[in-house]
Amino acid sequence: MCAIVGVFGDEQASRIAYYSLFAMQHRGQEATGISVSDGKKIKKVKRRGLVTEVFDEETLKTLAGDMAIGHNRYSTAGSESVLDAQPIFAAYKLGEISVVHNGNLINKNEVRSSLIEEGAIFQSSMDTENIIHLIARSTKHRLQDRIIEALEVIKGAYCLCIQSRTKIFAIRDRYGVRPFSLGRLPSGGYIVASETCAFDLIGATFIRDIRPGEMIIFEKGSSEYKSVQLFDPDPHICAFEYIYFARPDSDIEGKNVYKIREEMGRELAREHKVEADMVVPVPDSGVGAALGYSKESGIPFEMGIVRNHYVGRTFIEPTQARRDMKVKLKLSPISSLIKGKRLVIIDDSIVRGTTAKRIVRILKEAGAKEVHMRIASPTIEHPCRYGIDTPSYKELISANKSVEEVREYIEADSLAFLSIEALKRSMGNDRNYSLVSFDGNYFIK
Ligand code: AMP
Repeated sequence: MCAIVGVFGDEQASRIAYYSLFAMQHRGQEATGISVSDGKKIKKVKRRGLVTEVFDEETLKTLAGDMAIGHNRYSTAGSESVLDAQPIFAAYKLGEISVVHNGNLINKNEVRSSLIEEGAIFQSSMDTENIIHLIARSTKHRLQDRIIEALEVIKGAYCLCIQSRTKIFAIRDRYGVRPFSLGRLPSGGYIVASETCAFDLIGATFIRDIRPGEMIIFEKGSSEYKSVQLFDPDPHICAFEYIYFARPDSDIEGKNVYKIREEMGRELAREHKVEADMVVPVPDSGVGAALGYSKESGIPFEMGIVRNHYVGRTFIEPTQARRDMKVKLKLSPISSLIKGKRLVIIDDSIVRGTTAKRIVRILKEAGAKEVHMRIASPTIEHPCRYGIDTPSYKELISANKSVEEVREYIEADSLAFLSIEALKRSMGNDRNYSLVSFDGNYFIK
């Protein structure tokens, strides 16, 4: 998952990158980093922790320069080393280079093995390091050509910012799986970021989304950017960005995430009606869809579950036992509100089933008469290989159980999921989407 940002042509570049990463903290909480160039040298800071923990006034002062790139890393089990934080930096034949990446490369193992075979030494377990090695080993004379050569080798979903001392290259894969937008800074400089919520915080104006297969080049000394269409576009924006991952105030491909979530809830109400006294979201992930469900069904909306904001996302904990405990720490029902009531509970997705099971239990313990789970996405039956951290087939509950078996497991009175068709309708149904988690169509070959 992760978030990336690139800032060009502003003396406050690292500060703007910092605020942007802060706005995109939801995309990754494990580690963060910024590298900055003043045209002569690249300086960088990266560490494990949240944006506000890693950077303070002192650190930002050391990052002077008018070109910066930054990254928030999403936690995945196993790779907890600071070496897995980004930007990744290297000195090579043409000078210094720094790279940030959002997405996942599907041929990373093959590329890595052949690079190692040729003598490359890897410092991290990240697929992003492949890109640096490919650039460093290229025999082309210009960095731009070296990057293009590297991109011809890697396959998968990627949004990249590659920084040299005097340039920033912003690149989106030809499928446009992950969001990536271009904006103008109040100072006249430019920003590229994974989500438009970063623009709003720093007062940047949205220009457009970076096109699938496009490379945008910012160069010191020029106030205009260049655009090169590297690959034929074959857009497949990730549906999960709209369902869960992006912030509701972000617009992706011209569509507001909150409005789409509300539409998913309306579709859910049309497809899966139920007699009930109130619609209650699982906060915060189910709120948009629950509002839509309530408006469409006429069943009143209530915030019947309170979320403790001082606990991170439950998914982040690597072991099952710790994940269970975290759901308890995070969500508490309002007993006096729900006692004796028939509830429709709305969440955006069921992955392993941990959250849903625990929620049904705490609601029943709090006196709910009936608990009807409605999920604003289809059953997740396949792991995503394009950058959303969903687990293997073994752990995905809907890959192993029917809807009725999942209902039994989570002990709900009824359970229903949004259909793939309704999901597409909610997103406008005017383009192709990446729906791999639901339909198993791994379209990147
Ligand atoms: P689970 O408890 O494993 O079924 O996970 C479902 C919960 O995790 C839902 O409440 C979602 O909002 C949330 N969720 C879904 N996908 C992800 C993801 N890729 N990363 C973090 N949380 C997620």
